Amino acid sequence: MRDLSGLRAVVTGGASGIGLATARALAAQGAAVAVLDLDPDGVPEPLLGLKADISDDTSVRTAVDTVAARLGGIDILVNNAGIGAAGTVEDNSDEQWHRVLDVNVLGMVRTTRAALPHLRRAATARPGTAAVVNTCSIAATAGLPQRALYSASKGAVLSLTLAMAADHVREGIRVNCVNPGTADTPWVTRLLDAADDPEAERAALNARQPMGRLVTTEEVAAAIVHLSGPAAACVTGTALAVDGGMQGLRLRPV
Ligand code: NAD
Repeated sequence: MRDLSGLRAVVTGGASGIGLATARALAAQGAAVAVLDLDPDGVPEPLLGLKADISDDTSVRTAVDTVAARLGGIDILVNNAGIGAAGTVEDNSDEQWHRVLDVNVLGMVRTTRAALPHLRRAATARPGTAAVVNTCSIAATAGLPQRALYSASKGAVLSLTLAMAADHVREGIRVNCVNPGTADTPWVTRLLDAADDPEAERAALNARQPMGRLVTTEEVAAAIVHLSGPAAACVTGTALAVDGGMQGLRLRPV
C-alpha cells in the first residue's frame, strides 16, 4: 500500500542518517520528497536535494519556497536536521550553547515558519494531509549524563512540538515528534570512531541497549512516516519513542 501518493514532503538533514532513511521511506510510500541539507550532493534519485542551512533564515525561506514551486506545494515537513554536543554545563561555552540551540531549536522554528503558508494551503485543499514531524530524542526527558546542552535543545524541541500542535490543530495541521534512542547513523559512527577501540566501544554500546542493539535508521523512519500520513490522522501533540525500550523500561544509557 502506498499511503502517501500525491503528497509532497520536505526533510531537513535528509542527506544522511535518520533524515536520508526518512526521505527514502516517504518516497517509497509514494510521496514526492525534497531534502534540505548543508551538503545535498549524493542524495539519490528520486529525491530532490537542495542546499540549505537551517541556521540561516534567508537560506531556509529560499529553499522552502523553491521546494513548494518545484513540487507544487508542501503537505509534510520533517524537521530532522540537528547537531550534537557532549559535556556538562561546565564544559560548553556560551558560543557552543548559542550554536546548538540555533541549529536544533531555532532551525526548526525557521523551517516551520517558512513552510506554514504552504502547509495551510495543503490543509485547505486536501483536509487531513498537512503534518509536521520533528526529530527529538530520548535526551529530552531521560536525564542523560554528559549531554546538558544537547538535552536542553531536545527538551525545547519537545515543548515546541506540543505548542505547535496546539497552535495549528484548528488549521488542520498535525504536529508530532519522534524520540529515537541511540540510532545507528554516521553521527554515532563518527563518535565511535573517535574512541581508542571503536569495535569494543560499539560492542559496549550495544550491550547497554535493552534489546542488545542500536535502533536502525529505517525503524526511526517508519515511525516518522506513520506520523506523517493518514494512518495517524487523529494523532497530534505526541512524542513517539523509537528506542528499543530505553525509556519505557526505565533503563538508562551511560
Ligand atoms: P547525521 O549527522 O547522520 O545527519 C544529520 C544531517 O543534518 C547531515 O546530513 C547534516 O549535513 C545535516 N545538517 C546539520 N546541520 C545542518 C544545518 N545547519 N542545516 C541543514 N542541514 C544540516 O545525524 P543523525 O544521527 O541522522 O541525526 C538526525 C537527527 O536525529 C538529529 O536531530 C539528531 O539530534 C536526532 N537524533 C539522533 C540520534 C542518534 O543516535 N543518531 C538519537 C536521537 C536523536
